[in-house]
Amino acid sequence: MIERTLFGPDHESFRDSFRRFMDKEIAPHHAAWEEQGYVDRAVWNQAGHNGFLCMTMPEDYGGAGADKLYSVVQMEELARAGFSGIGFGLHSEIVAPYILHYGTEPQKRAFLPRLATGGLVGAIAMSEPGAGSDLQGVRTTALAQPDGSYLLNGSKTFITNGWHADLVLVVAKTNPQAGAKGTSLLLVERGMKGFEHGKRLKKVGLKAQDTAELFFDNVRVPAGNLLGGAAWENKGFVCLMEQLPWERLQIAVSAVASAQAAIDTTVQYVKDRQVFGQPVGAFQNTRYKLAELQTQVQVARVFVDKCLELLIRGQLDTATASMAKYWTTDLQCTVIDECVQLHGGYGYMWEYPVARAWADARVQRIYGGTNEIMKEVISRAMGLPGR
Ligand SMILES: Cc1cc2nc3c(=O)[nH]c(=O)nc-3n(C[C@H](O)[C@H](O)[C@H](O)COP(=O)(O)OP(=O)(O)OC[C@H]3O[C@@H](n4cnc5c(N)ncnc54)[C@H](O)[C@@H]3O)c2cc1C
Repeated sequence: MIERTLFGPDHESFRDSFRRFMDKEIAPHHAAWEEQGYVDRAVWNQAGHNGFLCMTMPEDYGGAGADKLYSVVQMEELARAGFSGIGFGLHSEIVAPYILHYGTEPQKRAFLPRLATGGLVGAIAMSEPGAGSDLQGVRTTALAQPDGSYLLNGSKTFITNGWHADLVLVVAKTNPQAGAKGTSLLLVERGMKGFEHGKRLKKVGLKAQDTAELFFDNVRVPAGNLLGGAAWENKGFVCLMEQLPWERLQIAVSAVASAQAAIDTTVQYVKDRQVFGQPVGAFQNTRYKLAELQTQVQVARVFVDKCLELLIRGQLDTATASMAKYWTTDLQCTVIDECVQLHGGYGYMWEYPVARAWADARVQRIYGGTNEIMKEVISRAMGLPGR
C-alpha cells in the first residue's frame, strides 16, 4: 500500500484521542440512536467540552486554530466507524466557516464560540421541496422591512442536523426579481417567532441523523442576522460557490474512508466464514474481487489526498473537487455493494456494519450536489457547451 504522507504525528495522536471519544461517547449509543432517529443532544456538548467541534476556528472565536487535516481525521474516523448520525462535519466545517469567512465581527463573536462548545447546533438550509439541484429556483424570501429587518417566508427540506439545529444558515431571496444575484444567507435562530422545526424525515440510511424539514412563517430576522451585513446582501451565491470545493471534498474523504472500512471488515469476514469446507476468502472469485476493490480504493485515496494538499495550499478548484466527489461516491457504492455480496445473507442484516454502510452510502451520490451536477461542472470546466 502507498504510505500516506498527509498527516504528521500530532494528527495521528489526535486520531487516537478522537477514537477514544467515539468508543466512550458514541459507540455504546449509536444503535439506539438509529432506533430513535436522532443522536442525543448531549453528545454535542460532550464533543464541544472535549474540543472536538469547530477545531479549525481561530482560538479567538472558541476554536483551536487547528489545520483542516484535524477535521479530515475526524471525518475519516466517523466514516470508518459508521457513525453516520453524527453531524459534526457539517456543523464545524460548513456552517462555522461561512460565519468565519463572511460574518461581521459581532456575528463571529455571537455564534462561533457557542458552536464550538456545542451550545448551538448548526445547519445550512438551501434545499426546498421545489429547489434542490436548481438552487437559483429557491422560493424562500427574506424581504427588507422599513425597520431594516427581513421578513422570512418559505420552507426547506432534507436539512442535516435540522431537528436539533439552534442556528440555521438559510438561503433566501432578498431580491426575488434578480435570480441568483438576489440571494442572501440569513442566520436564523431557534426561538425566532414563526420558525418551526418540522418532522424528522424517515430515511433509507443515516438512521440516527436528524434530517428535517424547516418552516418559516413571517419570521422577523433582525438586520444584524444577515450574514456579512449589508455588504453581503444579495451576494449569497458568491459565498455558496466559494465554499463548494471544501464541502465536496469532505464528502469524498468520507467516501474513501467508508469504502476502506467495508473492505477491511469483509476481509475479516471471508477469512472466518466457512463454505464448502473452506473459507469464503479462499475462493479465487473472492480474492480477485477484493484485490480489485482495494486497488480502486487505493487509487481514490491517493487522488483525494492530493486534492487535500491542493485545498490546504488554496489551489483546489471546483471542477477537481467535483471529480473527487462524484468518482469516490460512485466507487463507495460499488465497493460496499460488492462487500455485501461477499457477506451473503448476513450482508443484508442490519446488525452487520456492511449492511448499514450500504444503506448509508447511497445518499452520498445525491447530496452536496448530485453526481450528475458534478459532471455538469466538470464538463463546463472542459469548455463543453451546456445549459
Ligand atoms: C440525507 C440528505 C441530507 C441532506 N442535507 C442537506 C442539507 O443539510 N442542506 C441542504 O440544503 N440540502 C440537503 N440535502 C438536499 C440535497 O442537497 C438535494 O437532495 C440534492 O441537491 C438534489 O436535489 P433534489 O433532491 O431536489 O433533486 P432534483 O434536483 O430534483 O434532481 C432529480 C434528478 O435530476 C437530476 N438533475 C437535476 N438537474 C440536472 C441537470 N442539470 N442535468 C442532469 N441531471 C440533472 C439529478 O441529478 C437527479 O438525478 C440533503 C439530502 C438528503 C437526501
